[in-house]
Amino acid sequence: MNKLSNKVALVTGASKGIGAGIARRLASDGAKVVVNYTTSEREAAALVTEIKAAGGTALSVRADVRNKSEVDALIQSTIARFGGLDIVVNNAGIYQFARIEDTTEELYRQQFDLNVLGPLLVAGAAVPHLGQGGSLINISSFVTRILPADSAIYSGTKGALDAITGVLSRELGPRGIRVNSVNPGLIETDGTHANGVMGSEFQTWNEQQTPLGRIGQVEEIAAIVSFLASGDAGWVSGEHIIASGGMR
Ligand code: NAP
Repeated sequence: MNKLSNKVALVTGASKGIGAGIARRLASDGAKVVVNYTTSEREAAALVTEIKAAGGTALSVRADVRNKSEVDALIQSTIARFGGLDIVVNNAGIYQFARIEDTTEELYRQQFDLNVLGPLLVAGAAVPHLGQGGSLINISSFVTRILPADSAIYSGTKGALDAITGVLSRELGPRGIRVNSVNPGLIETDGTHANGVMGSEFQTWNEQQTPLGRIGQVEEIAAIVSFLASGDAGWVSGEHIIASGGMR
């Protein structure tokens, strides 16, 4: 029996990048997986097809996690289709670096709405359905430890998310729900290709500063999420697992 058999997992922003890698891994570990997306319907459908072809169970559901009624509908679809919810991964997120002089309300709202309001709305809607053994995992970032220049808004969102992880581990622990974050270093994803980070000086700087001498891959983050979602992490809550090849 796979370690996540009989579990239902929701992964936000799972049509691409780290979220897609997490959905793929949780499904291969036996969970029934909801692949959430907003615009990338084709990619989400292709991932569901791939999971099913490998013998897994998955469903794609469109919902903008910044919108409470869409989040509520996402959770209802999950319960209606799979009969429960055990694992929630708040992965959907956006990163836009900017010098402090270039801060705009738009940059602030885009990043705080998706990276902070989104996880709060998803947690709030999901928690009533999570029982003993439930696992909530927030995808934060190593930026909360290395505090790179030009990232005040983005690092601010992930600092807020780390605080939320700690608060919810206290608030939900008495109900048997564990809450943790994974804080990745630079990972090769659709997003880091699309925004030009791949091949940039920032990638080179990361490789030079990282003891393991490279950037990370989505599978390396997915493996940690799978551990945190499983009973193997039954005594782990309120933790921030920094997965950055040793970069601090
Ligand atoms: P990505 O490749 O750009 O993928 C982003 C995903 O989020 C897509 O599936 C996208 O779906 C979804 N999404 C965007 N807006 C959404 C919304 N309003 N509601 C629901 N889903 C939405 O991103 P990534 O690089 O994998 O990053 C994923 C997470 O890891 C983020 O939280 C990021 O901050 C964090 N992280 C990334 C790195 C890195 O180096 N890549 C490092 C540390 C932390 P659609 O295309 O359908 O909109």
